[in-house]
Amino acid sequence: MRKWGLVFLALLMKSSLSSAQSTPKIVVSFSILKDLVENVGGDAVTVTSLVGPNSDAHIFEPTPESAQLISEADLILMNGLGFEGWMPRLLESTKTKAKVVIVSQNIKSRAFVQGAEFSPDPHAWHDVKNVMIYVDNIEKALLELIPQSSELIQKNAARYRKQLKDLEAWIYKELNSIPLQQRTVITAHDAFGYLSEAYQIKFLAPQGLSTESEPSVQEVVGLIKEIKEHGVGVVFIENITNERLIRHIAEEAGATIGGMLYSDALSEKNQPAATYIDMMKINIQLLKSGMLKNK
Ligand SMILES: [Zn+2]
Repeated sequence: MRKWGLVFLALLMKSSLSSAQSTPKIVVSFSILKDLVENVGGDAVTVTSLVGPNSDAHIFEPTPESAQLISEADLILMNGLGFEGWMPRLLESTKTKAKVVIVSQNIKSRAFVQGAEFSPDPHAWHDVKNVMIYVDNIEKALLELIPQSSELIQKNAARYRKQLKDLEAWIYKELNSIPLQQRTVITAHDAFGYLSEAYQIKFLAPQGLSTESEPSVQEVVGLIKEIKEHGVGVVFIENITNERLIRHIAEEAGATIGGMLYSDALSEKNQPAATYIDMMKINIQLLKSGMLKNK
């Protein structure tokens, strides 16, 4: 009897603890978005990401825990543009009543054409200007959810926008010294189209927009030929993809590995890309030193 009494007491304490914690529960799809929402929401929100650091959201398979998080959420934020192909079914299965906000709305998305197929490019966060629009959408959603914290949210959003502006100025300055003809790099999958357009770097990749499909032998051979023709000396692995293929390509093309870029996910807290801003900085620094090795 005593044992059951203790269990009951523990349950009672647990439920009073969770009711004391009154910040709304926000669920986001991936780690980069979690960092953005935490910057805007600060202490007024509790944010959980379905796909964790260093993990691939393209091929994520929702677990019972994901469904649990969704059904307890007060607000759900996702990237959109086809990034989270698994989300509609997950939302449907939980019958959640929470509002779902697509943070990429109002962004001018890139189109990706492969043969007769056309798809939007979801990796919009690699252009800092787009992330400023993400922040606008996040701010709007949070103001609607917790109007009582509007002062804090607006202050946080303004401070973060300033940091993003500084980040963008830093990126232009870093890349300024690299001649345009030297600005080609190889990555594992086509995640950097927005970065390419915004900051004038040419990216070549064996794998398409999503990591769901494997490249064909001809595609890989074609890419190796292109690397040799362009005099590209450096290829990059990514934190979310299998590095075996890209190592093979580097070997065949006589190129070196320039390091690991963070494409679709942040790193763990004790690694170099724990925040969006740190992620952009480490990527740009690696790309810069890689491109300087090009002929
Ligand atoms: Zn991707």
